[in-house]
Formats: sequence, C-alpha cells, structure tokens
Amino acid sequence: MKYTVIQTPRGAKDILPPEAYKKNRLEQRVAEYVERWGYDRITTPTFEFYDAVAQGDGPEMASKLYRFVDRDGTMLALRPEMTIPIARVAATRFQPGDMPLRLYYIGSAFRYDEPQAGRYREFTQAGVELLGPARPEADAEVVALALGVIEHMGLSSFRVDLGHSRYINGLLEGAGEERLVSSLRQAMLDQDYVRYEDLIKESGLDKPRQAALLALPTLRGDASVLDEALGYAKGIEGAAKAVENVREVLSLVRAYGFEDRVSVDFGMIKDLDYYSGLLIEGYTPELGFSLCTGGRYDRLVGRFGRHVPATGFAFGIERAMLALDKQGWDEKPPTADVFLTGATVNSVGAIALFDVAAKLRQQGVRVELDVDGLSEKQSIERAAQRGIPQVLRLLETEKDDPTVELVDGGEKTFQGSLSQGLEHVRGVRQKTSTA
Ligand code: AMP
Repeated sequence: MKYTVIQTPRGAKDILPPEAYKKNRLEQRVAEYVERWGYDRITTPTFEFYDAVAQGDGPEMASKLYRFVDRDGTMLALRPEMTIPIARVAATRFQPGDMPLRLYYIGSAFRYDEPQAGRYREFTQAGVELLGPARPEADAEVVALALGVIEHMGLSSFRVDLGHSRYINGLLEGAGEERLVSSLRQAMLDQDYVRYEDLIKESGLDKPRQAALLALPTLRGDASVLDEALGYAKGIEGAAKAVENVREVLSLVRAYGFEDRVSVDFGMIKDLDYYSGLLIEGYTPELGFSLCTGGRYDRLVGRFGRHVPATGFAFGIERAMLALDKQGWDEKPPTADVFLTGATVNSVGAIALFDVAAKLRQQGVRVELDVDGLSEKQSIERAAQRGIPQVLRLLETEKDDPTVELVDGGEKTFQGSLSQGLEHVRGVRQKTSTA
C-alpha cells in the first residue's frame, strides 16, 4: 500500500471536534459513575513486555498483537486490553491487606483487527476490575456495575448475558480427543454452528454427550434455561457447579433491580484463556457486535506471582459512542459566552483587554478573544457565525475604568464604564470589582 504522510494508518483515526468533546464527556460520565461505586482510577503503560501480555492470550489474540523490538533487543507489545496489565500490577504492587481492590481504567488498546465501523486498531477501553473476593457477590457487583454504567451513559436499550467458562469448557472437553475439542472450540468462537454440528455428528461420541454438545449453542434465554443446562451437566466435572454459580449471580443481579436486563447464555465463549468462572457479555441493538465483555479470572493474577481471585468487565468507548449516535445523541461542545474585542495595538490596550478576559474567565464565563483586530461590524458578524451570543467591545482603554459596549443577541444592551458593563454580561455569577 502506498505510504502517505497525509493519512493515518488503517484502523487509527483522528477524532475531531465535536466528536472528541463527546468522547471526553462520555469518559467523564463513566468515571463519575464507577467512582460512586468505590472504584479508583489506575493507568498503566501502553506498552508492556511481550511476555507479560502473552500471559493472558488465546491463539486469536496472539495473532492480533502489535509487537516490536526495543533497542536492547527485548520484545515489547502494545497492550491489546487492560486486564492483563492490571493483573500484573495487582500481583506486584499491592499486598493481600489491600484487598478487595476496586480499580477502573479508561485508555487506549491496540489490536491488529480488520478495521470497520466499531472495530479499530487503536480504540479506547473503559473497564473495572474487582480483585480479592471470590464470592458471587463480587461477580454480581461487576454485572450490576456494567448494567448501571451502560444505563448512565444514556443507552436506552441494552442487555447483559451471563455464561460460565467451566460449563462450556466442561462440555467441550467432554468430547475427549484434543483435536476435536479444539475444532469444536474454534467453530464456537467463529459462531460457525453448521461446522460445529457436523463435527459432533461425525465424532462417534455417545448419544447423551452429542445431545449435550448440540444443545450448547441453544442454552440461552431466561432463568428457565438454568435447569435445562443442569440436565446436560450430569457427569461433567464442574459444569453443575457452574450452573449453580450463574443461578446465584443472576438472583443477586435481580436484587440490584436489573431483572429485565439479564439473560443466560451457556454457549458464550472467549478467546482469552484466563477466564475461570462467570462470563459477561453486554449488547445493545444498535451494534452488530458486543458492547462489553468480562468475567471472572481467578488464575490470571497468579501468573504474575501472587494468587488473587478477580472479576471485571470492559467496554469500548467508540462502540458506546456509535450506539449513542444511532440513538440520536446530540451533545455539542459549548460555544463561548462572549466574543471580546478591542484594540491591542499598544500595551495599555492589551493589558486592559486581557484583564477583562481574565475577570470574566475567573467567573466561569467562556471568553473567545479577537486576535484578528476586527472592526465592530466584523466582530458582530464573527460572533454570529460562531454562535457566540454576546460581543463585548472595549472602546477606550486609557482610563482606570475604561468604556465598553455590549451587544447581546444582536442588540446593543449597554454602553458605559467597564465596572458596570461586566455586570450586564450574561453568565457573570458575582459582582465584578474593577478597581
Ligand atoms: P474484548 O477484550 O475482546 O473482550 O473486548 C472488550 C470490548 O472492547 C468489546 O466489547 C468492545 O466494546 C471493545 N473492542 C474490542 N475490540 C475492539 C476494536 N477492535 N475496536 C473497537 N472496540 C473494540
């Protein structure tokens, strides 16, 4: 492909105003919400040792890594997600006495994905990790928090499905032969159910085992699926316990008041091999792919030296933005309140003008300064063009209390001393002293 200096690489994009403003607002909203649940922000480097990132990868994720060699020959990788770095931090920078640890992050992740709407090579992930407790209450908190944050972002239609890694792994591994197990797993990951069924029918497995595997992709829906799933779990290690674990979390999530928003899906499967329990996936009808994913990963932190049970979820900020846009999200960066103009040709004029600007800004008024030396007419036109409701024009600067003119909504509303004029500026909160 032709390299050009005027483009960004595939899958990396510029975020211009007003999108950047909306993105920032959304991130603020997420931070504000999760902080109310007692989560503290953490940031980790965008690149890590490749070996650290590789601690949590499935085969597909490994092929999506951005890898590069440091000048000293060490292999590094851009983080493809944030759970692995946080697991490293939890094991190495915190003590058992710090648990339970509630952490959240908002930051870039990098994957060699095929770019399309909602799928980028650099994207922003926001998420939480609850480290320490292994009880279903911790998983339920994370599920309720995922639901709560999606709601708080302003999405009106969404749902979260719960699955379990020990259920799906138990059933798949029950197929015995390693090659068959890995083909079945890949077919499920690809959602290629035709191939999945063919593999089972050609497998020679006994009928009950075949029936359980064939049922796996269909074990989704409301709580009634739990008993059906339990029926197929007979004789499969851990699978019955997994169903009971989902049942417990589901009833706790209901107690949080999210009854209508949660379903179960025992066919849920993840490419990341660190999941060890409950699996979470959140959807909204505006997107053709998941909005948020997560689950329990009790074995990951231990790979960095200290065993710590943990659970969490992550979602893509750009995906949430896409869904909100489809819902008609109309949030614009605020324009300035005042267009401030006046001669700056001599230092007296400049000092007076900058002083007025500073006084207004101190009171929370957004001021856009004329740096083009515009005439009165041009200033009014400029303000109208930029949607700025008021023009404050410094007419004379030699006096201690110079003369100003205020045009508000196209009408001249004041002419007189600056000390009185500032009081007429809309948005000024207190009386201004212009001593
Ligand atoms: P994962 O770590 O694959 O479970 O992804 C977690 C969340 O990150 C997904 O639910 C998406 O919202 C988001 N995400 C994953 N990959 C991408 C991507 N290539 N571009 C944008 N968002 C992504």
